[in-house]
Amino acid sequence: MEQLINEIKELARQKDAVILAHYYVDGSIQDIADYVGDSFYLAKVAKEVPNKTIVFCGVTFMGESACILNPDKTILIPDVSAVCPMALMVYEGEIEKVREEYDDLAVVCYINSMAATKSLVDVCVTSSNALKIVSKLPQKNIYFIPDKNLGSWIAEQLPEKNFIFGHGYCHVHDVIKPEDVEAYKAKYPGVKVLVHPECPVEVSKMADYVGSTSGIIDFATKSSDKEFIVCTESGVEHELKKRNPDKEFHFIDKHVCQNMRGITLEDVAECLRNGAPQAHVEEEVRVSAEKSLDRMLELGSN
Ligand code: SF4
Repeated sequence: MEQLINEIKELARQKDAVILAHYYVDGSIQDIADYVGDSFYLAKVAKEVPNKTIVFCGVTFMGESACILNPDKTILIPDVSAVCPMALMVYEGEIEKVREEYDDLAVVCYINSMAATKSLVDVCVTSSNALKIVSKLPQKNIYFIPDKNLGSWIAEQLPEKNFIFGHGYCHVHDVIKPEDVEAYKAKYPGVKVLVHPECPVEVSKMADYVGSTSGIIDFATKSSDKEFIVCTESGVEHELKKRNPDKEFHFIDKHVCQNMRGITLEDVAECLRNGAPQAHVEEEVRVSAEKSLDRMLELGSN
């Protein structure tokens, strides 16, 4: 293991590569990464770092987002089979159909989506800026894709808008049910519940805090509480424990995103040795997708 880690570090140095890792990948990869964060944070880091090569340890849509924002950089994807099923739960023909049905419509797309989808929508959002951005849109009708759970959570807070939801969901978060939360609350009375909005909206409604992966980590770190019930992917525990060694985190059933957790140190070494596989987005798609990401940055910044 130590030999492999040293090889990765040496290859990264030789190739002027920076290693980015999502919170849901295995802890061994988070430990060797130069930056660890959620998908939006990592996309921004990819744009800011001077390195010409980026090793993106996450699912493929994240590598694509890095490509969209950094057309001049090489984005290495250690495991091309690490695909997010929710990002694929979009029917492109449906977007056109809904556009024809409503005159006053904005198509809003969660950043957890493929580049081809981003190229067809009006604006992208993350779980942390979705409420702010959708509330600023002038349109009354909002077609929110692909995540029906995140969309429903935002809709709860914006009753003045009319939402049409996509059919997508994250299978890792969607299986967390209100009765699971009830059981944990009974077992750990008085303990705050932290929820990622990819969970069903009934679960989000039971939370003391609802937010992105980074938001959950920040909330727990700043809080004076010593114990939390956490409803999200269990890879986040690595960073939570690192920042809060004196606190306890009760993850509901240790749900795992196998798509990300399957990435290994050997995969990271192999892509650095070969300079492949690389993320790639056709230029026409990239330019359109970049517009929806730029709109997100513009509406999310003030
Ligand atoms: S946790 Fe869910 S949304 Fe995130 S990559 Fe895995 S399957 Fe996709």
